Amino acid sequence: MSRPRPRRRIVIVGAGFAGFHAARHLARLAKHTTGIEVVLVNPTDYLLYLPLLPEVAGGVLDPRRVAVPLSGAGPGVRLLLGTVDHVDLDHRWVGLVDPEGNRRTVAYDRLLLAAGSVNKLLPIPGVAEHAHGFRSVAEALYLRDHLLRQLELANTIDDPAERDARLTFVVVGAGYTGTEVAAHGQLLTRAAARRHPGLRGQPIRWLLVEHAPRVLPEVDRRLSAAAHRTLTDRGVEVRTATTVIEATGEGVRLSTGELVATRSLVWCVGVRPDPLVERLGLFTSKGRLVVDEYLTVPDHPEVLACGDLAAVPDLTRPGQLTAMTAQHAVRQGRLAARNLAASLGYGRRRAYRHHDLGFVVDLAGAKAAANPLGVALSGLPAKVVTRGYHLRAIPANRVRIACDWLLDAVLGRQAVQLGLVRAAAVPLDIDHPNPPPGPDPVVGARSRWQPLVSLQNHPTGGAAMAPGRRDEEARDREASAKSSGLDGGRELGF
Ligand SMILES: Cc1cc2nc3c(=O)[nH]c(=O)nc-3n(C[C@H](O)[C@H](O)[C@H](O)COP(=O)(O)OP(=O)(O)OC[C@H]3O[C@@H](n4cnc5c(N)ncnc54)[C@H](O)[C@@H]3O)c2cc1C
Repeated sequence: MSRPRPRRRIVIVGAGFAGFHAARHLARLAKHTTGIEVVLVNPTDYLLYLPLLPEVAGGVLDPRRVAVPLSGAGPGVRLLLGTVDHVDLDHRWVGLVDPEGNRRTVAYDRLLLAAGSVNKLLPIPGVAEHAHGFRSVAEALYLRDHLLRQLELANTIDDPAERDARLTFVVVGAGYTGTEVAAHGQLLTRAAARRHPGLRGQPIRWLLVEHAPRVLPEVDRRLSAAAHRTLTDRGVEVRTATTVIEATGEGVRLSTGELVATRSLVWCVGVRPDPLVERLGLFTSKGRLVVDEYLTVPDHPEVLACGDLAAVPDLTRPGQLTAMTAQHAVRQGRLAARNLAASLGYGRRRAYRHHDLGFVVDLAGAKAAANPLGVALSGLPAKVVTRGYHLRAIPANRVRIACDWLLDAVLGRQAVQLGLVRAAAVPLDIDHPNPPPGPDPVVGARSRWQPLVSLQNHPTGGAAMAPGRRDEEARDREASAKSSGLDGGRELGF
């Protein structure tokens, strides 16, 4: 009689596009075998569907619509809430901090690193202090409130210079994120301004600043031209081949020498791999973790990586890496699951190869730009393709999203601030946050870990959290008083 195989644990770090789809694929396999245990580690209990985040900031979608419950990955997947901040590659365990500051270690037989990326901060004076990024639900909610607050404050301000500054919004970076944020933000402010009699006839300026010679530099030129046309027709000032060289409390200075007075600077200049990569001490390329075409980390056959975090060779464009897009992350996640299973004796591994299927960019209202399978579309046809694509691609919440779109078309947007997210809670510089977002991470401090081979809870750190949180709330209140403008402060930070 053959003996049952020992259970092998696959730990997945990060439940974004790549991690979620890897977990889902493995869950199906785990259903048919008792030999595999899947553990998914993520700070939240949802996959954030980032491509629809600009619609949250624009007030079209409820924030819960873009949050896909991780329970959808399948019953065989064990979710562990937390942030991994240590990986011991020699002894095969990861260390993590849960949302309440408790520390745990989890042993693995196979590891999939899929922690994605974070906002990229360039060393430009004042940007870390005065700009905000756009990658999380908190940042989207914060931006939406901030835009509405600027209009409400401008409506009651007599000083014309101050009013103009509050009604000027600068988005830096015209990739898909910045372009969509500018498009949705502009329509939101335009609609909300109609409800303020004091703003009648008052220009509302939106500037989209891009270092490259065209918007959407990473996509087909026809898409780029269509997006440019839509934005400029609506009055967005598109400044290509231009950069921000300084941000101050008064506004931003552009590389053209122009000083733009504003209280709103949205930083969408791109992303960099999650800082976890730097802590691994492994080879990187352009900051991304080097893997081979099977998504395996060199010299560590038990470790795979995929998505934004990994430098995956693009076999369809020799010498290049796959782009940091959801399209690749989803497919790499599925393939990583297959290759991990193969390494445990289930099936055969395959190399990653995927031709881009095109791109969709939502430009708010009835406009979009898309090139499905290389066919360039703009206007309403592109909008239909874009929305159809998202409804198909998002793993849950489809009916709710479609209802929000319908309500938006029929009833318009609800222009109210919720005030749930304070400025200090969404710092741009996550390496030097002020105040710290949650418990202090311990980077590579192995001696402070108590390696366990089980998923046990370490009830330490909870008490130490409390004073930190109180400090954070006090600072939040201070920041909020300043940014409300009621104290006459002229800070740019939003
Ligand atoms: C606003 C916006 C719009 C976009 N629109 C599009 C689009 O239209 N089309 C497109 O193809 N791409 C788009 N992208 C890019 C796309 O979202 C990314 O390429 C994709 O999310 C990458 O997937 P990922 O799984 O690698 O990382 P992510 O989706 O970023 O997921 C990483 C996950 O890991 C978690 N995590 C991070 N660190 C840790 C840790 N230390 N421990 C545990 N968990 C951790 C994160 O919380 C997150 O849940 C957009 C990006 C943004 C920001």
